[in-house]
Amino acid sequence: MTTTNALQFPISEAPAMGQPLQVAEGVYWLRMPLPFALNHINLWLLEDHLGWTIVDTGINTSACKELWQQVFDHHLNNKPVHQLIVTHLHPDHVGLAGWICERWGLQLQMSRTDYITCKVLMSDTGQPAPKAAVDFYQRAGATDDQLAYYKTKFGGYGKSIYPMPDSYARLQEGLSVTMAGHRWEIIVGRGHAPEHVCLLCPELNVFISGDQLLPTISSNVSVWPVEPHANPLKDWLDSCAMLQHRIPADVLVLPSHGQVFFGAHKRLQRLIEGHEKSLMTLLETCQQPQRNVDLFSQLFRRPINNDLLTLAVGETQAHLNYLISKNKLQRIPDHHGVVWYQTL
Ligand SMILES: [Zn+2]
Repeated sequence: MTTTNALQFPISEAPAMGQPLQVAEGVYWLRMPLPFALNHINLWLLEDHLGWTIVDTGINTSACKELWQQVFDHHLNNKPVHQLIVTHLHPDHVGLAGWICERWGLQLQMSRTDYITCKVLMSDTGQPAPKAAVDFYQRAGATDDQLAYYKTKFGGYGKSIYPMPDSYARLQEGLSVTMAGHRWEIIVGRGHAPEHVCLLCPELNVFISGDQLLPTISSNVSVWPVEPHANPLKDWLDSCAMLQHRIPADVLVLPSHGQVFFGAHKRLQRLIEGHEKSLMTLLETCQQPQRNVDLFSQLFRRPINNDLLTLAVGETQAHLNYLISKNKLQRIPDHHGVVWYQTL
């Protein structure tokens, strides 16, 4: 057991890539590689007398497919995979859903909003960036070089995802599923993804949190060009508060990145306080009018390169829109179409 920031990590060493490690009765931790700075994702395998449930899939790369094939060949105790659940629409979670469904003849189980949004986003692949999207980053203060780079990368979402199944079974708040011989309650969180499925097993006292609750990273909460006035930070903070009531303080949390941990309530409180601190900092900084891009140094510790621009603009805009919704900040457009923000 190691302890950091009041969280407890009962398994100090993560499993090797593609090697399932038991973390609770019938519940296994499976790690897969990601080709990003964040270099891994945690997936979950749950065993019962019928076979296996997979929760989340990894990204659509040959490396992940090869590791899955090894799992299928050597780690399933001669039982089939009979359920596939995806927590949310991001490519590291849903990337191989279509491939696994084809391989095992399964119907994907996912929330409706994330399934449909995923299909819509995939349809952008191969299309030019729409004017509304370019305008969104231009209003934020992106340079011509940054906008040109954005246009070359547009549609990348669909490239990391195997073609999605054309039908699915809907998971939603209030329903439950059976995995590893136990009932798991579906708890929906919002803000990081539109309708993120988390799974709580009261009998095992285990919580599969996806990206809704991570031990060390603060999940990205972003505004996207398709809905520039969205307020996802309110959704996120409301979800953190909701989870503090819904899940037990001593639950074992199985997150999609980092180590499994105890200390859910403390971590949720820290996430809430982190955003509240950022909001206060922005209000102080915006005593003098600022553009979205001027605020990166207040919110992010690392430098923002072209690849991180959309996440940084999106997360900054989430904080700005939250403050606007509270009537604490005003938008001031200039003659170049760039928006400045000033504290009221
Ligand atoms: Zn995610």
